[in-house]
Amino acid sequence: MLRFASLASGSQGNCLVAQAEDTIVMIDCGLSLTETERRLARAGLEPGAVDAILVTHEHGDHACGVFDFAAAHSARVYLTHGCHAALRAEGKVTEGVKTVIIQGRSAFALDSMEVHPFTVPHDAREPVQYVVSDGASRLGVLTDIGASTAHVEQTLSGLDALVLECNYDRDMLWNGGYPKWLKARIAGPFGHLDNVDSERLLAALDRSRLKHVIGAHLSQQNNRPQLARAALARAMGCEESWIGLAGQEDGFDWRSL
Ligand SMILES: [Zn+2]
Ligand SMILES: [Zn+2]
Repeated sequence: MLRFASLASGSQGNCLVAQAEDTIVMIDCGLSLTETERRLARAGLEPGAVDAILVTHEHGDHACGVFDFAAAHSARVYLTHGCHAALRAEGKVTEGVKTVIIQGRSAFALDSMEVHPFTVPHDAREPVQYVVSDGASRLGVLTDIGASTAHVEQTLSGLDALVLECNYDRDMLWNGGYPKWLKARIAGPFGHLDNVDSERLLAALDRSRLKHVIGAHLSQQNNRPQLARAALARAMGCEESWIGLAGQEDGFDWRSL
């Protein structure tokens, strides 16, 4: 059995929970300790049940709560060397937390879960994203990527579930109030995917096994839920209502494979 839920998704904090048999991981923890505990309770989980945190990259909306949570609840932390170095330089690494340095292209077993990290272009030190599996079904998570790559599309083909960034609508970003440098960073090759990029990426995948597609990391200033949903539905050739969305406050409720 593989199931997953989101506690939060967006530039104010990201945290996804995935469970394979009796193994529970969080992918990122970009919330305070108390907020993470509150939202885990909402999802019906004790914080002590979380075995490990898989970290994608050091940006605060993904990593600000990682070591606080891990220290408080004896969770292991998995991250790349570059991400670890970046967090250490910011004074965000807590000594005594069991830390495992991973390679961006090497799959590994984490108790009952198979974890397959993969590298992405994003303006962090050594960013990765993850596919996790119980051996039968595979869930892919992809946010914080400036542009798709052949490697990413190969990795995400044939998944059973996909949580996919739809960060911004191009017109809303360029016509909006962000400073020019920030607009350029977001839209640049190491920034984020817009709705059209995500639609193209999804359309390029083998989608034959997909049972869940969820738009994630939507900008609250530069996107609208209905635009992201419509883009992903076009790629899937499905009803818009079939596409899920991950919210900043609510994340999304458990989905099972
Ligand atoms: Zn982010
Ligand atoms: Zn980021």
